[in-house]
Amino acid sequence: MVALPRTDSLTVTNIYTAYEAEASHGFRPHLGASLIGKECERSLWFDFRWTTRCRFTGRMLRLFETGQLEEIRLIRNLRRMGVTVLDIDPQTGRQWRVTACNGHFGGSLDAAAMGVPEAPKSWHVCEFKTHNTASFAALRKDGVYKAKPQHVAQMQIYMHLTGMSRALYLAVNKDTDELYSERLHADGDEADKLLAKAERIIGSTQPLTRISDDPTWYQCRMCSHHPVCHEGVQAERNCRTCLYTTPIENGHWQCSANSVVLAVATQLTGCVKHLFIPDLISGEQIDADPDAGWVEYRLSDGSLWRDGSDKTIENSR
Ligand code: SF4
Ligand code: SF4
Repeated sequence: MVALPRTDSLTVTNIYTAYEAEASHGFRPHLGASLIGKECERSLWFDFRWTTRCRFTGRMLRLFETGQLEEIRLIRNLRRMGVTVLDIDPQTGRQWRVTACNGHFGGSLDAAAMGVPEAPKSWHVCEFKTHNTASFAALRKDGVYKAKPQHVAQMQIYMHLTGMSRALYLAVNKDTDELYSERLHADGDEADKLLAKAERIIGSTQPLTRISDDPTWYQCRMCSHHPVCHEGVQAERNCRTCLYTTPIENGHWQCSANSVVLAVATQLTGCVKHLFIPDLISGEQIDADPDAGWVEYRLSDGSLWRDGSDKTIENSR
């Protein structure tokens, strides 16, 4: 008898679909401290300017949830051995949150802890991470500074902005449940460099320099912005990619075309006056009429394209 091919389970498919239906819009309102250690500043600018929507499969979304569930368990583990762990900021009654750069940069701590056996009298920023076996092995072999510099940058920012001088990095191997911990000391100079980097990204009106002009460079191959950065794919159309928008105080964004401060919901959709930031167009700007609301480009394939208020793409000459 010929075996029938196995089909995907409808139950599993529906579980994943439910995760996807509940997923957020895929853009982060602020530049995240968890990302600031990324080497490519252009990639961070693309994140901040919402050029590429993050879409994850239901399986990946569930995996992220596994990481969050692990945090609860690690807090329980620490408390069971007598460590004081505050997963809520007592001053606000909400999750620990830090912000800088006029409210455009920040992040959320997993917890703060006192009574860590290696230094029981110091408050520690807690950062909990899950790893697969290969990543965990690298962490054990090389330590967090070498294996996960992005996590170190995140903790340096958290220490700097909370005033805590120590951080506890607690990692778990998802495959074996083995644990690894490492304590970090605050490094003010490093934190200042990271804050200056965040300022550079937030303050730039155009994409920053590529880490590599070679589309096959290993970091570029893994980058979600590769299509926009190296392949000439059009960026997402929203207020963050519009030339009329500027980040202003308190984490707000100003639209100069409509003279309004933009709510996040508005930023997601933009309006009919949207015009792309010229550096996001893969071509050369050759003409513009700001009063009529259009900009014309010669694209890299030689064709002409007018970015205008009617949203039509036309060969205008
Ligand atoms: S594709 Fe490469 S150069 Fe472009 S943003 Fe990503 S990492 Fe940076
Ligand atoms: S012109 Fe429209 S798309 Fe552009 S920033 Fe203003 S509201 Fe957003």
